Amino acid sequence: MASAVQKLIPGAQFGFGPSIEHGFYYDFDLPEPLTDKDLRKIEKEMRRIAKRSPAIEKETLTREDARARLESWGQTFKLEGLDLIPEGEEITFYSHGEGDDRWGDLCEGPHVDSLKDHQFHFKLQHVAGAYWRGDEKNPMMQRIYGTAFWTKEELADHLEWLEEVKKRDHRKLGTDLDLFSVHAEAGAGFVFWHPNLGTVRRELEQFWWDLHTRGGYKPVYTPHVSRESLFAVSGHLENYGEMMYAPMELDAFPYRVKPMNCPGHALIYKDRGRSYRELPLRWAELGTVYRYERSGVVHGMLRVRGFTQDDAHIFCTPEQLAEEIAGVCRLIDKVLTTFGFEYKAYLATRPSEKTIGDEAIWARATASLEEAAKIVGLELELDEGGGAFYGPKIDYKIKDALGREWQNSTIQCDFNLPERFDLNYTDSDGGLKRPIMVHRAILGSLERFVGGLIEHFGGKFPFWIAPTQVAVIPIREEHSPYARKIADALESELFRVDAMLEVGHMNKKIKQAQKEQVPYMLIAGEREAAEGTVAVRRRGTREQQVVPFDTFVAMIRGLREERSLETPEAGEPGADAGAPE
Ligand code: ZN
Repeated sequence: MASAVQKLIPGAQFGFGPSIEHGFYYDFDLPEPLTDKDLRKIEKEMRRIAKRSPAIEKETLTREDARARLESWGQTFKLEGLDLIPEGEEITFYSHGEGDDRWGDLCEGPHVDSLKDHQFHFKLQHVAGAYWRGDEKNPMMQRIYGTAFWTKEELADHLEWLEEVKKRDHRKLGTDLDLFSVHAEAGAGFVFWHPNLGTVRRELEQFWWDLHTRGGYKPVYTPHVSRESLFAVSGHLENYGEMMYAPMELDAFPYRVKPMNCPGHALIYKDRGRSYRELPLRWAELGTVYRYERSGVVHGMLRVRGFTQDDAHIFCTPEQLAEEIAGVCRLIDKVLTTFGFEYKAYLATRPSEKTIGDEAIWARATASLEEAAKIVGLELELDEGGGAFYGPKIDYKIKDALGREWQNSTIQCDFNLPERFDLNYTDSDGGLKRPIMVHRAILGSLERFVGGLIEHFGGKFPFWIAPTQVAVIPIREEHSPYARKIADALESELFRVDAMLEVGHMNKKIKQAQKEQVPYMLIAGEREAAEGTVAVRRRGTREQQVVPFDTFVAMIRGLREERSLETPEAGEPGADAGAPE
């Protein structure tokens, strides 16, 4: 590609051009901005070069020769790139072509030997601005993104997948489905939840609290703002300071908004003496925290500056640790599988430097994490040295409907905060001991998890969590009383109903409900009113099934109860499973 760019645009300057997750890019300094048409021209030239100059040669040069060559080519960015290659490392050039087509580049490689033996199917996708070496003080370059595959089919599949990713972008669906917004008044990174997404969040929170209450967790609430001295004790000021918002002064004391909930929970623990008989303590808080993410990395709901963690801390003895971790693993499994996520778990062990806690406690905690995984039958992949400085952890990666991996759930042992806050409990022998503190989050943050859910479901939320669950649509105005009766009956069972009784054409209302991705539409006419039935139309279909209203209600009770991912046809066998007799 770089060769084609230089052929078409003499004087082009080259930056870096690495391969990335789904393809590659290359940065260029060019006299004019590239258009889509230019990309097609470059592709055409790439095909010509591949055909005419298939052989690719590798050369290893001394630093002096490499410098002389780049100087003769006038490639100033490349000269800077050369200086970045560490002393003692091989300096390689890759070249191809004869005569006019001769072209070479300083490149780490490796490259294929020949373009003849491989059929490449590639596409240049788009151009974006990128500062040289990612620094805004440097010149802005033009970055061409492209992708390449061995077969035409793979390329087509990938491009189709990208279209689907684009269609499901939570920012696009956020507007289309009236879910959330961001405003200049708050700046990027602060999410305003609209009623539709607020409903999704409420359902999610209820589900979360139900599970935690059953799991023996107790709710706590801690202030959003505390004296700065709290974060000096916790060490956040020292180790996490650049992620914290600037202090504000209240009553001559500096105050900070919290970047984490843990110090607050430690204060509650420390409020009075604790006995071994009380442990383990499991305290949960949907705690909103604030972190100063740089504006360049803030992204919709996925990377934000203010967010609510589904946080909890467990204070326990070393003997209790394995069983406690196992309990968290079970909770995580329940939540992730309810949303249809596959997942993998990684055991992150002691880093090689800058850790606290002696070897014995690290070994014991790590063994407890492994034992917990064994108890619940969870396979752990090893992330050697990937632990935090304060303890080992298990990190989860989930795979969404588009095959993308996300990191969210985490279970972290902490020997540091109990030390810093001087937390202890009186053991059975009367001696004072340190508890272990476990930090754990399942969703990660509500913003990120729900943003991910929007994309995972493509805006088609499962029945139990859908903002509107049922739309009731009369065929004509005179059927409104029956439609009202149905809607009232559903609302009395706390289903979320949109009774579309306003004057207007039925088909328009159906279209509206479809656009809003409402799982079920109930069409009510004369026959339905006379027979006590409803004509049920599922999201994404055109067919209707006429069933007794009670049958429909029994089915959706079951869907809600089971938090089902399905939107079955009304009257399908098994569709009313779980409904009361
Ligand atoms: Zn914590």
